[in-house]
Amino acid sequence: MNSTIRTQALALLKRFYGYSSFRPGQAEIIEAVASGRDALALMPTGGGKSLCYQLPALLCESGVCVVISPLIALMDDQVSALIANGIPAAAVHSNRPDEEVREALEQTRLGRVKLLYTSPERFVADLPAWSRSLPIRLVAIDEAHCISQWGHDFRPVYTELAHIKAQLPGVPVVALTATADRLTRDDIVKQLALRDPFLWTGSFDRPNISIEVSPDPGKARRISRVCELVRKYPDDSGIVYCLSRAKAEAMTAALRLQGVNAACYHAGMPAAAREESQRAFVNGDVSVVCATVAFGMGIDKSNIRWVVHNNMPANIESYYQEIGRAGRDGLPAEAVMFHSVGDIITLRRFIDDSDSSRRGINTEKLARMQAFVDSAVCRRRMLLSYFNEEKVRDCGNCDVCRSAPLRFDGTVAVQKALSAVVRTECRTGAFMLRDILRGADRHDIRARGFDRIRTFGAGADMSAAEWNYYISQMIQLGLLDVAYDDNNRLRPTPYGMRVLRGDERVMLAKYVERQSEPRRARNSGATADERHGTASLLSRLKAVRRAEAARLKMPPYLIFSDASLEDMARRRPHTPEEFLEVSGAGEAKTARFGRIFMDAIRAFEGAGFNL
Ligand code: ADP
Ligand code: ZN
Repeated sequence: MNSTIRTQALALLKRFYGYSSFRPGQAEIIEAVASGRDALALMPTGGGKSLCYQLPALLCESGVCVVISPLIALMDDQVSALIANGIPAAAVHSNRPDEEVREALEQTRLGRVKLLYTSPERFVADLPAWSRSLPIRLVAIDEAHCISQWGHDFRPVYTELAHIKAQLPGVPVVALTATADRLTRDDIVKQLALRDPFLWTGSFDRPNISIEVSPDPGKARRISRVCELVRKYPDDSGIVYCLSRAKAEAMTAALRLQGVNAACYHAGMPAAAREESQRAFVNGDVSVVCATVAFGMGIDKSNIRWVVHNNMPANIESYYQEIGRAGRDGLPAEAVMFHSVGDIITLRRFIDDSDSSRRGINTEKLARMQAFVDSAVCRRRMLLSYFNEEKVRDCGNCDVCRSAPLRFDGTVAVQKALSAVVRTECRTGAFMLRDILRGADRHDIRARGFDRIRTFGAGADMSAAEWNYYISQMIQLGLLDVAYDDNNRLRPTPYGMRVLRGDERVMLAKYVERQSEPRRARNSGATADERHGTASLLSRLKAVRRAEAARLKMPPYLIFSDASLEDMARRRPHTPEEFLEVSGAGEAKTARFGRIFMDAIRAFEGAGFNL
C-alpha cells in the first residue's frame, strides 16, 4: 500500500474506531478507493465492509461519501455508530421528517457531513440535483448484489443505479456485497459500468460458526434444542428462522412456555409490534427472536451467538447470510438447521407462486440447497465451493466433520416404502406414507382403506423421525418423485422400481438422534481461576453496558461490542491511555465511556476478585 495512505489510514483507524490493524482486504480496498479507483468488494458478513468506504471518506479532506443502502434500520444504526465514534454522519430516507432531511442536506452541502446514507429510491430521484449541489467525492453501494437478476435478492430499483458513473464522472464507486457467486459478481461490474475496478474477494469462510444440519427430529426436540442454546449462552442472543408467519408465532409461544424470553417478528405483524420486537432484541431485552426471513437485514448486533433454522431456507445465499448474523464478533457461534420433506413442499409452492421469470433460477437454487442438506461432505467446503471459493481441507467444525454419517444398506426399508406407495396407487404424500409404514391410527388412512394394504405397519420398528429422514433421502436419491402439481403425491421413479424389484441395492445415511451436549467453556486455554476471574469481570462489564445503554436509550452494542468487553476484561485498563489499547475503544468512546468502565474494573478488583 502507498505508504502515506497506509500511515494515515491506520492512524484514523486507531483514533476513530480504536482498532490497531486492518482486517484482510480492508487496507487494499481503502487504498484503491482513496486513490480514485472503482472497486467491488466481496466480503462475508462481519468481514468489515463498512470501513472500506468510511475510511476513504475520512481520508478525503473535504466532501462527502454517499452510501446507498436498502435498509432504513441499518442506515440509522450505522449513523449512530459513526456518531458514537465521533464521525459526522447523517441519513436521508423516507422515515425521516422533512425538516431533518433538509438540515442533513444543508450540513452536507456545507461540507460538515462525511458520510451521507440514503436509499436507492431517494438517490435515483435526487441524483440530478445532488450532483450539482453536494460535494460528492465517493459513492458506496451496499448490498450490491441486489442489482443482479442472478442474485437471490434482485431489486429493480437498483438497476437504475447504472447511470451513476455517467452522472458523476470522476467520482469513484465502490460496490459491496456479502453474497455473490461468480455470475453475480460479473453482472454487478457490468451493470454499474465500473471502470477497471479493483476486485477483492475476501474469504467467505467463517470458521468460528459451527454448522449443524439435521433432519427434523420432531417439534419437541427442536424446541428443546433451542432451549439448550439459550441456556448455553445466557448473556447473549439467538434467532430462530421459520418458513411461515404461523410457524414463527407457534415457535415463540412454545419457547415462552418453556420460560424463554422470546419475541416474534414477521411481515404480517403491525409495524409497531415488529419494531418493538426488533428493539427488544437489539437492546438485549429478549434473548430470542422467532422470525421469518423478513428479520435480520440491517441488524448489526455483534453478540448473536446462534441461529437456528427451524426449516430449510430457500437457497444457499439466504442460508449463508442468515447464519452469518451469528458470531460477527469472531467469537465461537453456532448454526443449526432442521429440514424436512414438508419444507421442500412449502418452498416449491413459494416458487410456483413467484414471478414466472424467477421460477427457473429459484428452482435451481432450491435444488442446490437440497443437495447441501443431503450432502455427506464437509458442510463448509460445500458452502464455500458454492461461492466459488476453494477449501482444501475439511473444517472440523460441522456435523459432517464431527461424525461422518454412518451408512447402511437401506434396501429393505426403501422397498417397504416403495411398496406402500405402489399399493396405495400413488395416492399418498410423504407424511401419510410415513404413518402408513408405522401403522398409525389416522382416520384418513382408514377412510381410504390404506390400513388394509400389506405394508401397513411394516415399518413400525422405526420412529417417525427416522422415516421422515429416509423418505426425504429417497426423494433426494431419485427413488421417489414428488408431484408438486398434484398435492405432492409420491410416485416411484424407474430407478425406484428397479430397487423395488430387487435389481439394485441402496445405501442410506443412518438417522442419529442428537444427544444434548454438556456446556463447553469458551476459553479452554486459561486456567479455571483465570477463567472465573475474567468471566465474572466480563459479566460486570456487561451489566455496566446494559445500565448505560438503558440510561442513554441506545443499543448496548453501540457502546461496545462483546469482543471489546472481552478484551477489556483481559486487559483491565486503569488509565485512559490503557483504555485506548482496548480493541474498539477510539478517542470518542474512551472520552465518553472510559471512566465508568474503569471504575467498574477498579471496584471489581477492590472487591477481592483480583487473581
Ligand atoms: P460487514 O458490513 O462486512 O458485515 P461491518 O463493517 O459491520 O461488517 O463490521 C463488522 C464488525 O467488525 C463491526 O463490529 C466492526 O466494528 C468490526 N471491525 C471492522 N473492521 C475491523 C478491524 N479492522 N478491526 C477490528 N474490528 C473491526
Ligand atoms: Zn466440516
